[in-house]
Amino acid sequence: MTAKHLPDNLHRDTLAVRMATERSQYGENSEALYLTSGYVQPSAEASARRFAGDEDGFTYGRYGNPTVASFEQRLAALEGAPAAISTASGMSAILMMCMGLLKAGDHVVCSHSMFGSTIKLIGSDLAKFGVESTFVPQTDVGAWTAAVKPNTKLFFAETPTNPLTEVCDIRALADIAHHAGALLAVDNCFATPALQRPMAFGADIVMHSGTKYLDGQGRVMAGALCASQELVTEKFLPVLKSAGMTLAPFNAWVVLKGLETLDIRMQAQSARALALAQWLQDHPSVARVHYPGLSSHPQHALAMVQQSNCGGAVLSFEVKASDEEQARQRAFHVLDSLTILSLCTNLGDTKTLLAHPASTSHGRLTPAQRQLAGVSQGLIRMAVGLEHITDIQADLDRGLLSF
Ligand SMILES: *Cc1c(COP(=O)(O)O)cnc(C)c1O
Repeated sequence: MTAKHLPDNLHRDTLAVRMATERSQYGENSEALYLTSGYVQPSAEASARRFAGDEDGFTYGRYGNPTVASFEQRLAALEGAPAAISTASGMSAILMMCMGLLKAGDHVVCSHSMFGSTIKLIGSDLAKFGVESTFVPQTDVGAWTAAVKPNTKLFFAETPTNPLTEVCDIRALADIAHHAGALLAVDNCFATPALQRPMAFGADIVMHSGTKYLDGQGRVMAGALCASQELVTEKFLPVLKSAGMTLAPFNAWVVLKGLETLDIRMQAQSARALALAQWLQDHPSVARVHYPGLSSHPQHALAMVQQSNCGGAVLSFEVKASDEEQARQRAFHVLDSLTILSLCTNLGDTKTLLAHPASTSHGRLTPAQRQLAGVSQGLIRMAVGLEHITDIQADLDRGLLSF
């Protein structure tokens, strides 16, 4: 679908509100929501050309939609990517990537601190189809190099990670992947293109859960891959057509409008997260804070280079306790004492959301696996929203000051 005619070299702020498909004949200022599953064809010849891919034009809702195309064009512009293709959720974007790029006998290298469902999809579900995988420590570049095999086709990293905000060196991983003849994909959910554009550091594919900061207000599920036009057209679009993990037009419209405020939300939420991280670091009931914006973070310098000098909106902290049992009780007490902030495992909302990773996202791990992942019973993850910082502090103090 043709993009709206815009001058070259526009800034990202402008593209975030202007990039879309052409307006309809009605001249709507807000992008139209096209709720249609089929498209009337101008002629049988044109229909045949469209189905053959020889002519632009919509044919069927599973293959494409103008509202969905607007979201893809806008996201690609923000990531500095040649093209994007969207999906019904973040996980289905990962599935599309794997189905498009891998076959039985191929090998994938991932960080072992990836999103839990990603580890399950690649480590277990794809293993049933003969795809091998190796999981390595997020920040150990040598371990990524050592994991390469002759059949390695894909590196998949996520930075910063959930919930410990570990940062990996995108440029270094891209170099290792390319040297091995593999592609590097980066899950950019936490930083978003407002802060981090992985393709500028050599990544080949950027994966998104639109459910998080792209929507930004916790309303709809969405996913996307940004990549070269060749990867999108030749590897991913055929999977979408046959497997049908299509993004619904309504959800695409919500996320498209979310992108208009992504930058100011990320700036405002990151500023609050930094102030809260500094406050928590000095709090008498807090043992440790994980946040890339703090100089105490092990990859602080790298994070500042990769993430536009910003730590992002997610942090995690550990409550002080004498043992794991007491730590769990105290973390639960903090969460149960909240009266404003939400106890909710989602992230990427204007409302501040808190979660207890050890009993939710990492609840299915054995104690040993959890320890390896660094997820203790006292750990609380906080995805900072837009409430006033004093109100956020007061809500946390309700529990933190009454153990
Ligand atoms: C939520 C999330 C996903 C999965 O996205 P869904 O839209 O929930 O399918 C993948 N990666 C990260 C880092 C996430 O936070």
